[in-house]
Amino acid sequence: MNTLPKNYNIEVEVLQDLSSSGRVRPWRENKLANTVLTAVYKNIAKRFSGVLKPLGDYYLSKANRLDKCARHLVFGVEENGKKRLVFADFCRVRLCPMCQWRRALKVESQMFDIIREIEKLNTYSFIHMTLSFKNISVGDDLSAEIDRLMYAWQKFTKNIVFKPIQGYYRALEIRLNEQQTEYHPHFHILLVVRKSYFHSRDYTSQATWTQAWKQAGQLDYEPHVWLKKIKDSSALFLPELIKYTAKAEDFIFPDDMALSEERVIQLDRALHQRKLICLGGIVRQISQDLKIEINAEDSDLVHIDGEVPQNAMFYRQMAYTWISGVTFANYKFDSDLTDFHNANKAQM
Ligand SMILES: [Zn+2]
Repeated sequence: MNTLPKNYNIEVEVLQDLSSSGRVRPWRENKLANTVLTAVYKNIAKRFSGVLKPLGDYYLSKANRLDKCARHLVFGVEENGKKRLVFADFCRVRLCPMCQWRRALKVESQMFDIIREIEKLNTYSFIHMTLSFKNISVGDDLSAEIDRLMYAWQKFTKNIVFKPIQGYYRALEIRLNEQQTEYHPHFHILLVVRKSYFHSRDYTSQATWTQAWKQAGQLDYEPHVWLKKIKDSSALFLPELIKYTAKAEDFIFPDDMALSEERVIQLDRALHQRKLICLGGIVRQISQDLKIEINAEDSDLVHIDGEVPQNAMFYRQMAYTWISGVTFANYKFDSDLTDFHNANKAQM
C-alpha cells in the first residue's frame, strides 16, 4: 500500500482574469449560473422522461453538455501578467450564461471589425433602432410571438422606408418586464445610411417608421419604435447594441426551481433553431469580405479577440479547473518525495 508523503503542501491559486480595462472577468459567476441551469435542465429531463422519452432525452443531453461547459480553462500568460484564453470546451447551449457571455464578446469584436471597415469609407452614418410589439403575458406562446416578429421584420425590410438603408445588423433580445409577468421580445438594429441621409428627402421621421412597423406587423395599435442617431464612433456604442439573447436573471432563480423550469422550457422552445442575428446590405458584404461569420453555431468561443493569433507564443501557460460550486483554481502540489519513494520502494 502506498503511503502519502510526510511533508506535502498544496498551493491553490484562484483564477483572476482581468479585462484590458481592469475589470474582473466573470468566469466564476457564469460557471455558478451555468451550474444552476444544469440542474434546471436535469429536472426538466426527469419531468419528461416518463411521459415523452425523446423530449426527456433532449433536455438530458443539454444538461450533460452544460455540465461539461468550461470545466477546464487554459490561459496563455504574457510577460506583463495579462491572460489570454487558449483552451476551453464550451457547450454552446443557447441559454448557457457562460456561452452567451463568450458569444456576446465575440460578436462585439466581429462587429467592431466590420464597423471599422465601414467607417474607413467615410461615406456612412449609423442609427440604432429598436422594434417591438406589445409585451405578451408569460403564459402566452412566446415561440409564436417570435414567429410574428420575424415575419413582420421580413415585410418591414421590403417597405419603401427601407430603400435608403444601405445595410443593417439585427438581433433578437427577449426580456421580462420588472414584475416578471410579461415577455418583451424585441429587435436591436443597427442601420447604415449615407451621411447625406439626415438632410435629404429620403429622411424618414419616427412617425413614418412607426407606421411602417405597424403595417408590417398588421397591428391595430401604435407600436414602439425607438431611434437614435449615433454621433461618436460607433464602436463605443457597440455594448448598447449587442446584448444577450436572454439574460440569466430572467430564467435562473436559484431559490425557485419550478419557476426556472417553466421559463427555461418556454425560452428553449422559442429559441430552438432560430437565426438570432442577421446582417444585410453593406454590413453583410463587408462581413463576407473579412470572412467573418457572425453567430455561427460552431463559432470559436475561445479566441474571441481577433487580434491574438491562434498560435501565439506566451511567456507561460496556466491551467485552471472548476471546483464545483466554488471557483476556478490552479493547484500546485509540492512535497519532498524522497521518503515517499523510499517507503514505496521498500514494499516492492
Ligand atoms: Zn456553455
